Amino acid sequence: MSEIREVVIIGSGPAGYTAALYSARAQLKPLLFGSSIFVGGSLTTTTEVENFPGFPDGVDGPVLMENMRAQAEKFGAEMIDDDIVEVDLTGDIKLLTDSAGTVHRAKTVIIATGSGYRKLGLPKEDELSGRGVSWCATCDGFFFRDRDIIVVGGGDTAMEEATCLTRFARSVTVVHRRSTLRASKVMQDRAFSDNKISFAFDSEIAEIKETNGMLAGVVLRDVLTCATRDLDVTGLFIAIGHDPRTELFKGQLALDTDGYVTVASPTTRTSLPGVFAAGDVVDHTYRQAITAAGTGAAAALDAERYLAARG
Ligand code: FAD
Repeated sequence: MSEIREVVIIGSGPAGYTAALYSARAQLKPLLFGSSIFVGGSLTTTTEVENFPGFPDGVDGPVLMENMRAQAEKFGAEMIDDDIVEVDLTGDIKLLTDSAGTVHRAKTVIIATGSGYRKLGLPKEDELSGRGVSWCATCDGFFFRDRDIIVVGGGDTAMEEATCLTRFARSVTVVHRRSTLRASKVMQDRAFSDNKISFAFDSEIAEIKETNGMLAGVVLRDVLTCATRDLDVTGLFIAIGHDPRTELFKGQLALDTDGYVTVASPTTRTSLPGVFAAGDVVDHTYRQAITAAGTGAAAALDAERYLAARG
């Protein structure tokens, strides 16, 4: 039988690594499972990060994540680059199975599995992430000053991204597959009244074009006529939704209607004692590295207090 750990963390993004740092410094010897193929989380898919405090000249996303990991390891956090494929979180001792079938036991579990941006599924989309293709106006809008940009999507997030981007961009074209938007009326009105924003309805991106490793335009297709046309843009923001990585926890933890883990805000306590959740797997609203790191710290402190009270 494996030893019973004080804290096991699932997820290697800013939330997981910060939870590891805090619980390691609290002498809880955390064990973190950080995925077999996606170690370091979402920021490893981008280039420059300019809004994480402490880096006046910006920092490369993968470098920031390696530093977070090294800082947690320095205080004794143990990292395993593997997936947790099954959990039983309902008992006093939590059971977590890795991909080799080994069952790990823990008194507390911190869930920091993040959420994935939905993708268009087009060639070059991933390769040009951080090179003209983005999923986050708050993160990347600043890099697109005086550029012509496309926002794909028709919901509130797409309208919010489009409106936010008008602060930087020369023009923003919202591309939506249908003839009407899904966004709330107030968000639609705001976008319609902005003279930098125009709309391409009944349209989708047929092709992403690249020159010298950077986005160099897109081909738009009219979904009704199948006619195509080139659009000369250097920014493509994809705002078609997110999927929290909570498949593992269904049926055990309370999730909201969109599948995010529900916590007793402002704490990180979930519906099960001894189980805490942090970062984008909880957060519909902010979805930033700094907010994920902040709730990761809170989860470690919540776990520490739970362990102290448990005795
Ligand atoms: P994530 O970073 O998503 O990490 C979760 C990790 O958990 C992943 O590695 C995942 O594989 C792993 N995992 C999931 N399930 C399991 C499992 N069963 N077993 C083991 N591991 C598992 N934010 C900013 O503040 N500034 C920016 O400039 C910025 N730029 C961005 C650019 C891009 C392209 C993207 C995609 C996001 C960007 N963000 C930015 C947002 C930021 O990356 C996220 O808000 C943040 O990473 C969320 O952290 P997290 O720890 O909650 O989850």
